[in-house]
Amino acid sequence: MPEIAPKAKSKPWRELLPDVWEFLKPRRAHLAAGFFLMAINRLAGLVLPYSSKPLIDKVFNGGQLQLLVPIVIAVLAATAVQGVTSFGLTQILSKEAQRLIAELRARVQAHIGRLPVSYYDSNKAGTLVARIMSDVEGLRNLLGTGMVQFAGGLMTALFALIILLKISVFMTVIAALILVTFSFALKKAFGIIRPIFRERRKINAEVTGRLTESISGVRVVKGYHAEAREEQVFFDGVQRLLNNVLKTLNATSVMGLSSTVVLGVVSAAIMYIGARLHVNGKMTPGSFVQYIFFLGLLVAPIVQVVGIGTQLSEAMAGLERTREVLAERPEDDDPVRTLTLGPLRGEVRFERVWFAYEADKPVLEEVSFEAMPGTATALVGPSGAGKSTLIGLVCAFYTPSEGIVTVDGFDLRKVRLDSYRTQLGVVLQDSFLFDGTIRENVAFSRPAASEEEILTACRIARVDEFAERFERGYDTVVGERGVKLSGGQKQRVSIARAILADPRILILDEATSSLDSESEAQIQEGLTYLMRGRTTFVIAHRLSTVRRADQILVLEAGRIVERGTHESLYVGGGRYFDLYTKQHGVEANLFLAPGEGEAAPVEDERVSVQERDSAEPEPLRWIQNQDQ
Ligand code: ATP
Repeated sequence: MPEIAPKAKSKPWRELLPDVWEFLKPRRAHLAAGFFLMAINRLAGLVLPYSSKPLIDKVFNGGQLQLLVPIVIAVLAATAVQGVTSFGLTQILSKEAQRLIAELRARVQAHIGRLPVSYYDSNKAGTLVARIMSDVEGLRNLLGTGMVQFAGGLMTALFALIILLKISVFMTVIAALILVTFSFALKKAFGIIRPIFRERRKINAEVTGRLTESISGVRVVKGYHAEAREEQVFFDGVQRLLNNVLKTLNATSVMGLSSTVVLGVVSAAIMYIGARLHVNGKMTPGSFVQYIFFLGLLVAPIVQVVGIGTQLSEAMAGLERTREVLAERPEDDDPVRTLTLGPLRGEVRFERVWFAYEADKPVLEEVSFEAMPGTATALVGPSGAGKSTLIGLVCAFYTPSEGIVTVDGFDLRKVRLDSYRTQLGVVLQDSFLFDGTIRENVAFSRPAASEEEILTACRIARVDEFAERFERGYDTVVGERGVKLSGGQKQRVSIARAILADPRILILDEATSSLDSESEAQIQEGLTYLMRGRTTFVIAHRLSTVRRADQILVLEAGRIVERGTHESLYVGGGRYFDLYTKQHGVEANLFLAPGEGEAAPVEDERVSVQERDSAEPEPLRWIQNQDQ
């Protein structure tokens, strides 16, 4: 099962460099411009400290006033150059970094969208959202000013070192020894900090994930009076996050502290040596002041690198997690998926199919059956028997561990999923509606559908009856997950959506929740239209559906234990009989053996459906013809 949980150890930076380059390569022009501006910026930054020597030795001590104005002009000009180049850097790099983020977010979302259902089974929605929105954000620092500042700091340090050596080799060797020791300590510290940053992203994703769930499941939370528990769970998550942040703050503050101490030690050493050199006539006051300035330029970037290094660590951690997601294989990317299906007849066949989510725990065993085009297959059986799993295999969400699933004789494992899924329609129990208008929700299955087609589908599914009562009609926005619609209304929208898609194979997961008899009848009518002429698989909870099915598969513990029509199975008096006598209680007396007569309510429903079938078949046929 795919996992995106981080590996215990982060990869060394070296291994990530090709990945970094992959993202940076298309932006190398921006980076080059950034480095160029940074080099000018840093060179201009040398003018002020460099001018200190002539200012002190020649103007202050030597009285050469004619040098004063040129020195001041040079300093002003250099400052102007620094200002302009800083502005340019932000304009070029920061904006490009934001474009990189937008592009990468879209790429990660597109990739995650193409991953198999099994990936979603093992990763929380909120975690995936965090992958797309926040992990990518860290990468900003790679391209943003972070990296260029890092390089700029190194550049300044190099310039400064050359000048320092020119002024005094001895003093510089002493200072360099202290600084090199410090740099090693810094390197070690980064090694400690990086995994902590990585951990922070993981915690963040988990906390966000849980929060998203508790907000979207607010009804369950309140229904079970679990607010306090959720508060506690979130509080614990926030504490974990806090502990992580505190750890990194500890590390960065220790680094900050030690750099200040190092700076102090170096300054004291220089002061001592410089004063002695001056007294011995080996250094002018101007050279000494200049030395101090340049030493600052050498040390400051190293200290600054602490901050930038932290940002880059974050960027690398984000990159690593982003790469993990991008390395997952999209479901249609399988080299064996070469068959592109044309229009299907809709014959589905399972041949000795075994399936397991986890190794050695089969959920389906030796399942074989055939669903002929245009027929309805009802799946019944106790909870956990494997009905949804079987449907998942029909949808090609999963592939069999053993055996084969074919559609019109084609092995589903070899079929291009886009060519198959466009011929598949699903109406699920928890009718999933997006935050959009009724029209958008219906047209979700075929965005290119014409207004007339949408309205016809809505009429067949009886969406028109309630939609037209709203002030804004089909343009009424249904709230997040369609909260403004009743359960029955949502199902009708879902049915209209499937009617519009005109699939060859239809998956129905019947709602278990009971609706009032009027809504129930309306939904049944819509479904009857929808099912006609299509190969339908239905996880049946309603007696009426089971009775109408062409074949019933009774599943138990992953095996088909009985199969047949309602009448034949009922007469058999086996598992099906037991199941329904138990499940439907009083209703069970409606299960009449053939010849014993039919109970009125069910028969009434059948008749009414038939009547409607014969009365209004045109719209559906019309819709079907459109796509053919
Ligand atoms: P119900 O009527 O309650 O929906 P079902 O007959 O549809 O049940 P399935 O959902 O197919 O049953 O589940 C069959 C078995 O597979 C169960 O034991 C379940 O715990 C297991 N199972 C389902 N989904 C997964 C999954 N994503 N990962 C691991 N095991 C799973």
